[in-house]
Order: sequence, then C-alpha cells, then structure tokens
Amino acid sequence: MKNDCLFCAIIAGEIPSKKVYEDEQCYAFYDIEPQAPTHFLVVPKEHICCAAKIDESNSSVVAHCFEVIAKICKELGVESYRIVNNCGDQAGQTVKHLHFHVLAGRDMTWPPG
Ligand code: AMP
Ligand code: ZN
Repeated sequence: MKNDCLFCAIIAGEIPSKKVYEDEQCYAFYDIEPQAPTHFLVVPKEHICCAAKIDESNSSVVAHCFEVIAKICKELGVESYRIVNNCGDQAGQTVKHLHFHVLAGRDMTWPPG
C-alpha cells in the first residue's frame, strides 16, 4: 500500500466506495463520476502506478484483472463494453494507481478524443 494513493486507500477501506467485486488480487468499484450508464474500475490490490510499469514480475495480476472484467460483465449482463487505461498525464491519467475503466450502456465513439 502506498500512503498517498487514493486507490490504495479505497482498497484498504479507508475511503468508501461502491464495490462491484473483490478477490485476493483485485478490487472493482463504481466510478464516482460515471462516463456511461455502467462505469466501474478494476484495480490490482498491489500498487502499480501505471501501465508503463507492467513487467514480468507483475503482469499476471493484469491478466487476472481482464478475467475479472469478463466475469463481472457476464454477471451484470453487459455484452458490449469498452476497457480503457490511461497511462500518464497526457493520456489523462489522474490517479496514479493502475486501473482499468469498464464503460458500457451507450454508443461509443471511435477514435476516442
Ligand atoms: P483516470 O483519470 O484514468 O486516472 O481515472 C481515474 C478515475 O477515478 C476517474 O474516472 C474518477 O472519476 C475516478 N475516481 C476518482 N476518485 C474516485 C473515488 N473516490 N471513487 C470512485 N472513483 C473515483
Ligand atoms: Zn495505490
């Protein structure tokens, strides 16, 4: 756990969140500012600051997050969805703890803005 990290504090239960799913490796919760009718975040419990820091030592948790996304979406009855990861400031990453946005329930545009 990183002391000044918002998502580490959410995972630890120090800051409330609306939980979607949890297991030993990851935590999923609804985004506080939803950008689609369904918008939740899946985060590894381990503090990894961003996608640029994924390597052979921690990539298994990333694979696990994607397994969990498929499982949650199936349970929610969501068949079409977009998974987004913002890496770094220019890409719009505001919370420096690796997370995957899952957005669904409306038409999506491509390319993204
Ligand atoms: P990003 O901009 O890709 O780093 O995504 C961070 C996301 O975290 C944004 O979509 C925020 O709305 C969301 N967020 C920030 N604070 C909270 C919170 N306390 N609970 C749930 N989601 C949050
Ligand atoms: Zn963290």
